[in-house]
Amino acid sequence: MICPRCNKAIPDDSAFCQYCGFQTAPRAEEKPFDTATDTNHPAAVSPGSNPVNPAPGMAQYAPPARYCSRCGGLIDRSSRRCTACGRQYFRPASAVPVIVLSVLLAISVGLNIRQYVIHSNMTETVANLEAEIAEQEESINNLWWDYLKLSNETDFFRSHAVIVPDDGTNLYHLYRCEDLDLSSFWIYNTEAAKQQGLQPCPKCYP
Ligand SMILES: [Zn+2]
Ligand SMILES: [Zn+2]
Ligand SMILES: [Zn+2]
Repeated sequence: MICPRCNKAIPDDSAFCQYCGFQTAPRAEEKPFDTATDTNHPAAVSPGSNPVNPAPGMAQYAPPARYCSRCGGLIDRSSRRCTACGRQYFRPASAVPVIVLSVLLAISVGLNIRQYVIHSNMTETVANLEAEIAEQEESINNLWWDYLKLSNETDFFRSHAVIVPDDGTNLYHLYRCEDLDLSSFWIYNTEAAKQQGLQPCPKCYP
């Protein structure tokens, strides 16, 4: 006989097409169950009396078949390969795994984006901190340079200049002196102050 679905030649007594799984014989449950009154189907009355056809009730154990989308042939369940054209199916023809995979992919992409954002933020933070450190280092260098200049200048004036307040004591002082009254004063160089008979303040020059 010829399979009405896939048009392949199959043995005449086949209940199913061996290529596409098409059911060529009526399903057992489709036969009238009250076989005692159905004389047209004696095989249903006595299972085993006709060894060619499947016994009543057995057809319901046939697993639901899947058919090739290209040729309509039966797909072997274990190898997921079309028995007619050999097309390989890697996944059952169900949308659920695709949905699950899509969700997993979306989660994965989301996590990757999150990781990327965190990494970008950290990289930006590190770059900002490094820029700030460089700024501070430059500022420290400038301050240190200013300090050296002022320190030299202070040493110069401390060595060569004195302050003589207009208080009648005839003492000359350094700027840092606690007793120094700066409301009225002169600045002398040290040699001139000595020449004029002024005396060093005992607190400034112990
Ligand atoms: Zn067939
Ligand atoms: Zn096929
Ligand atoms: Zn003094």
